Amino acid sequence: MTTPDPPPASLRLRIDAQALAENWRTLDRLSGTAEAGAAVKADGYGLGIDNVMPTLVRAGARQFFVAHWSEVPDVLAHVPGESIAVLHGVANEREAAFARATGVLPVINSMLQARVWHESGGGACHLMVDSGINRLGVEQQCMGDPAIRQLQVDTLMSHLASADEDTAQNARQLAVFREAAAQLDASRLSLANSAGIALGPDYRFDLTRPGLALYGGIPRGELAGHIRPVVQIEAAVLQVRDLSPGDPVGYNAIWHADKPTRAATISIGYADGILRSWGSGGALQHDGATLPIIGRVSMDMVIVDCTGTVLAEGDFCNLSYALPQASRISGLSQYELLTVLGQRFQRVVEQD
Ligand SMILES: *Cc1c(COP(=O)(O)O)cnc(C)c1O
Repeated sequence: MTTPDPPPASLRLRIDAQALAENWRTLDRLSGTAEAGAAVKADGYGLGIDNVMPTLVRAGARQFFVAHWSEVPDVLAHVPGESIAVLHGVANEREAAFARATGVLPVINSMLQARVWHESGGGACHLMVDSGINRLGVEQQCMGDPAIRQLQVDTLMSHLASADEDTAQNARQLAVFREAAAQLDASRLSLANSAGIALGPDYRFDLTRPGLALYGGIPRGELAGHIRPVVQIEAAVLQVRDLSPGDPVGYNAIWHADKPTRAATISIGYADGILRSWGSGGALQHDGATLPIIGRVSMDMVIVDCTGTVLAEGDFCNLSYALPQASRISGLSQYELLTVLGQRFQRVVEQD
């Protein structure tokens, strides 16, 4: 027996393909003489690899970054292996063999990884130098080590810890990266993530690596007005009811009606990425009306105050997901807001 197609979802994530393409082109332009790549790790920052890759490729992106080898097959369906870089690098022979078989380039992060790659046959790879984030990467002092010298480095990269802030750490990291670059013969240099692009021409080198801003995130004020929102959320009303003064709402009865109130139960919850922190101060919208979330966010539902509206079962409400504002309301970072989005959304790519 074949299962029929499920009915339309009660939860939708609309992805504006034009805004995504324009954001990439904007970041590529802001990168000056450098070329912009695209970070598509974590399933394209939660939007779905198959939803973002065709648009990014059509816009002109040629270099893609993922973190894990497990993310490679989905990206390989859209671009050749040499266009993909795996940020976590090669920890062992199995990973090196997979890199070789797919043509994907590892980002070598440690002396051990350099040896693993060399002993498995070597060839083109990328190299991460740690310029002060102290997370992943070879120490700058090791650039002259024979294990590093014998690598065939396509792109030498480093990663900024605080590019979204005005702090002296940025210039310090830039100086360390320049020293490393002077010691090594790499085809390309790459330092800037989304926020780094806005730090100015010194930070751009040959290749930039935007992620967040592609998907509508605004990590620095300079990017506001340039970056368009990409994501919209819509969730269906499951039920509407009238409350009397004193009636409690939701788990643990943390909210009570203080006057006659109309409440609607909406098909979105923390399992979808709308975490409990949205419960204090968050709201949905319908037809110009603001519908404050009342009571605790549940796994599959939130309850909103829809007093004075004509909201009815089956209507769809919007949850504004403009990332800077949503971040302030929820207390989650713009990165978290994207990557926590769950699997129950019907992800719809809108071409115009
Ligand atoms: C995730 C990541 C990026 C993208 O950073 P954004 O802040 O999302 O633009 C770039 N480089 C590295 C090494 C990363 O891990």
